[in-house]
Parts: sequence; structure tokens; C-alpha cells
Amino acid sequence: MLKQAADVLKNASRAVVMTGAGCSVEAGIPDFRSPSGWWRQIDPRTVATTEALEHRYELFHAFYAARIEQLREVRPHNGHSILSKWEHQGRLQLIATQNVDGLHQAAGNRNVQELHGSIRHFRCASCGRPGAEQAFLDRAPCTCGGRLRPDVVLFGEQLPEEAWHASLAAIRAADVVLVIGTSLQVYPVNQLPFLTDGTLILLNAEETGEDHRFDLVLHGRAAQLLQAMDEQ
Ligand code: NAD
Repeated sequence: MLKQAADVLKNASRAVVMTGAGCSVEAGIPDFRSPSGWWRQIDPRTVATTEALEHRYELFHAFYAARIEQLREVRPHNGHSILSKWEHQGRLQLIATQNVDGLHQAAGNRNVQELHGSIRHFRCASCGRPGAEQAFLDRAPCTCGGRLRPDVVLFGEQLPEEAWHASLAAIRAADVVLVIGTSLQVYPVNQLPFLTDGTLILLNAEETGEDHRFDLVLHGRAAQLLQAMDEQ
């Protein structure tokens, strides 16, 4: 199966990768749904919401401040580097990611579409003006008096249009879509892979409810599997 997946990629000319939280786990960032996921202790749906931003800012702020702290020492892993190498070799056209951590860009990928925004950027929740990370951490208000928030997509918010359209177009035109480290439970991003006519490959640590819809499924850790594919 690994060799088959490597062969499909080797012969591809318009490959697209879609990543989820599982693609960052080996870099030291916990995902949300597997047993080690730290959202087991705090339900994300109660915090990553517009309701929390507006009515429970203390909790909202504490949650994102902890996530930002957690990212400080984190660096891309070998799997990220391989995806970057594939883009520079012209094998990989685009990465559509649900991750907000910026690790694909840190590894050197240039064409990254952040479908759920970024925790590396901040803006005023009232006027939309950009703000600095330190100002958010210090709870400094915007010059308009509004509160700062990370530029992530909260539950109930629209996805960034440009990222969505660019990802959709690339996936529709792709000859291979490689999906890495996602439970495929978050709508609408979980629909994207199935809009391709290309070969669909899944790399994930555990079974997802959608495994049967893929042409090839490899269960294992993202960085290890990417390295093995690259060697092939
Ligand atoms: P998820 O937590 O729902 O699913 C992660 C999947 O990755 C699970 O099926 C798990 O088995 C698998 N996995 C865990 N470790 C792995 C590894 N080493 N290699 C391969 N697979 C592994 O995450 P999701 O599907 O991305 O969706 C949930 C939401 O989580 C998204 O909105 C995303 O924005 C957010 N999120 C992002 C980050 C981040 O930016 N790094 C971290 C946590 C959650």
C-alpha cells in the first residue's frame, strides 16, 4: 500500500495535500479528538465560539493564550519538511490546511491555504484592525476600545472565502489528493477531498468514518509515513 501510494504521487502532476491537527501532533501540538487531545479537558465548542468571544472573554482569552504559549517552542517536523521539498520539486501544488499553527509555512511551503485561519495573527473583534500577539496576550484594547482576538475561524463563523475557493479549485483539478491527520468530522472542510476526480489517499493514525471513500488508506503517524513515502 505504501509503495502504491508513493507511485501514485511520483506520477502525479497536480497533487494537493489537505492536513488536519494530526499532521502537527509529532511536532508537539496535541490534536482535538484522539485520546491525548487536550480539548478533552475543555470542550472546544464552549470556547472557540463567537458566544465565548462576546460573553466569556476571560475564558476565551485564557484558552487562546495557552495555545499560543504551547506553540512557542514548536518547530516543523520531518514530515512538514518533506511536504515543503515536494512543493519545491514541483510535485505538490497546494496545501489546504485546517491547522492554525503556521507550521507548513515555517517548513517552507509557499502555497498554503489556511481554511480555519491562523493563530499567528490577531485583529480587533470590533473594527477588524490588525493587532499584535503581545497586545492580545496583555489584553490591551484596540485603539477603538475593542477586544483583540486571534484570526482563527470560530465555530459558527464563515470560512475565509479566498482560501476556500483556492483549495476547492486545486482539489477539483488535482490528479491526487493526499489527506493527512484529520478525523474528517469538521464541516465543510471534510467535504473537500471528495470533490476531486483524482486518486484519494488518506494517512491517519486511526480509522476515520470515511476510510471507505479513499482509494488508498495508510494508518500510522504522519511524519513516519511521509518519510517512508519519500524514500520510496
Ligand atoms: P481532529 O483532532 O478532529 O483529528 C485529528 C486526527 O489525526 C485523528 O483522527 C487522529 O487519529 C489523527 N492523528 C493523531 N496523531 C496523528 C499522527 N501523528 N499522524 C497522523 N494522524 C494523527 O483534528 P481535525 O480533523 O484537524 O479537525 C479539528 C479542528 O482542529 C480543526 O478545525 C483545526 O483547526 C483544529 N486544530 C488545529 C490544531 C493545529 O493548528 N495544530 C491543533 C488542534 C486542533
